[in-house]
Amino acid sequence: MTYADLHLHTLFSDGTYTPEELVEKAKAAGLCCISVVDHDTVSGIERAAVAAESAGIELIPGIEMTAEYSGKEIHMLGYFVDYRNKVLGENLKLLKQRRIERIYMMLDKLKGIGIKLKAEAIFSLAAYGTIGRLHVARALVNQGFVNSTSEAFSRIIGDDCPAYVLGFKLLPQEAVKLIRQAGGVPVLAHPFTLRDDALIPGIIECGIMGIEALYPEHTNSKKGKYIKLAQEHNLLVTGGSDFHGDAKPQLKLGSFRVPYDLVEKMKAARVKE
Ligand code: AMP
Ligand code: ZN
Ligand code: FE
Ligand code: FE
Repeated sequence: MTYADLHLHTLFSDGTYTPEELVEKAKAAGLCCISVVDHDTVSGIERAAVAAESAGIELIPGIEMTAEYSGKEIHMLGYFVDYRNKVLGENLKLLKQRRIERIYMMLDKLKGIGIKLKAEAIFSLAAYGTIGRLHVARALVNQGFVNSTSEAFSRIIGDDCPAYVLGFKLLPQEAVKLIRQAGGVPVLAHPFTLRDDALIPGIIECGIMGIEALYPEHTNSKKGKYIKLAQEHNLLVTGGSDFHGDAKPQLKLGSFRVPYDLVEKMKAARVKE
């Protein structure tokens, strides 16, 4: 059996490895196929593709876009997107700007609860690309406000916490449309983070083609439920580790992988479109 990992982050968003380092590690971990899905950017894809080609492993170009649904942040994966697509590129520029504004809104909220953090302490961690909460979490650790990034999420910047800001504005159907017009396959990422499975049917109606049922934090019962839901709606099942390098040190590359036939099914579904 050959294995893939379809959910990896690089320095171009909130991972800590360059695309080249990631490819090298994936190869060493015995994976034959990976997908780089940085948050709201495709800037790392070209480098990952070149590195994968010379390492002799398959790289599926991807993205993980953030949208808002029912007042919650949802993540939409886009596999096989054309990373040179102009419409996608223009929209990503706008999303990048919104993410920067969101960081300043979070800084205000942090100030309101007595945490004075300099913008530079966050932005210096995201020199390559997309800025996000994991950078805020790391800055909070670096400045001694919390002991770990998990503590930052559980007490300060997690979805229900005092310094959380939503602010993405993109609708799931818009994310789906952007991905599809760039030739990609839209997939709902890690549905457990919605913390309300009743929201999933509404998201399916937005035109997704798959569900990321296989994910390290999904319990067996969640996994079974999401696979069943995908089957009932004739959707693909995908999976990946959500590796972020040293930013989430508890997860090692290669420790969570999925059978390569899922990739074959994705390719077949794409051709049918
Ligand atoms: P953002 O897109 O800025 O809202 O940030 C979302 C990212 O924050 C996710 O992709 C994860 O990398 C990270 N994240 C979210 N929740 C947690 C958590 N509980 N512990 C650690 N990292 C988290
Ligand atoms: Zn992330
Ligand atoms: Fe995600
Ligand atoms: Fe992710």
